[in-house]
Amino acid sequence: MKIKKVAIVGGTHGNENTGVFLVNKLKNALPEYKGLELKYLLANPMAIKNTRRFMDHDLNRSFGIKELQNIESSEYEFNRAKVINYKLGPKGDPKYDFIIDMHTTTSNKLGPKGDPKYDFIIDMHTTTSNMGVTFIFSALNKINLQLACFLSERNDSLNLYYHPPESKNADSDLPYLNSISPFGLPLEVGPVPNGLLRHDVIEMTEKTVRDTLEFITLLNNDSLPDFPDSLEIFQHMETILFPCDDDGNITAYIHKDLQDKDFCELKQGDPIFYTVDNKTIYFENEFPMYPVFVNEAAYYYQNIAFSLSKKISISTHLT
Ligand SMILES: [Zn+2]
Repeated sequence: MKIKKVAIVGGTHGNENTGVFLVNKLKNALPEYKGLELKYLLANPMAIKNTRRFMDHDLNRSFGIKELQNIESSEYEFNRAKVINYKLGPKGDPKYDFIIDMHTTTSNKLGPKGDPKYDFIIDMHTTTSNMGVTFIFSALNKINLQLACFLSERNDSLNLYYHPPESKNADSDLPYLNSISPFGLPLEVGPVPNGLLRHDVIEMTEKTVRDTLEFITLLNNDSLPDFPDSLEIFQHMETILFPCDDDGNITAYIHKDLQDKDFCELKQGDPIFYTVDNKTIYFENEFPMYPVFVNEAAYYYQNIAFSLSKKISISTHLT
């Protein structure tokens, strides 16, 4: 299998400036890479201009087939999703012939439906959580596992976060930008506050993008190195909400002992929250877990405090 066309995307969330900065830097530095055709895209220009995560709706939750086919929707991000699906995908049958780009007000005639235009999408995100470089994947396919091995060997501190679809159905539709191409790298790098640039986070992100392009060229040339037989990953288990009162106000915040402890073992009896009346809430789970997205600013509007994952070892020998 060959991967020839790679899209490098930043600003899917308009307040994550690292990806925006790197799209603008790399499009001049890397117009192409060892025979790969690269396309650079700022996904959400209006949100970038306003340093907001999104204007009307989270763009990275707008790529479900249902949203892409809904011609009635007027939200900015639903339009962006259709335009990006036209440029990089398409995923599914768009069910329309023209798409007006609300941003440029140009009309795009859709070409014949067929294979997606881009084989691989690198979508650069940042997080306010202390997650280092994290590769998030929702399928345990051969390419993802090979890429996970390759990136792990290049970066000792890389974290692999497996977030399977909520539905048991393996083909269940996902709403993420990455879902419109067959393969991709959704990347989270942090900690960095929203709206600013941090040298170390930019450096880690750029290195991972370059390593991924190197991986693709080696894959295309059948010259990937041998990989270990197994790989340690963190599998998403559940989402933990902040304690709230009857009016929905948060009544406890992340305990200082849990802050910045993403991917660190969390045992029964460890502090997790500190309440308005100065009490500590402890972790009650009988088995150790590993917290992820601890105190992520973008999830406060949903009252999400952190996620829990378990560390598992998986075989890399998939066909
Ligand atoms: Zn993001």
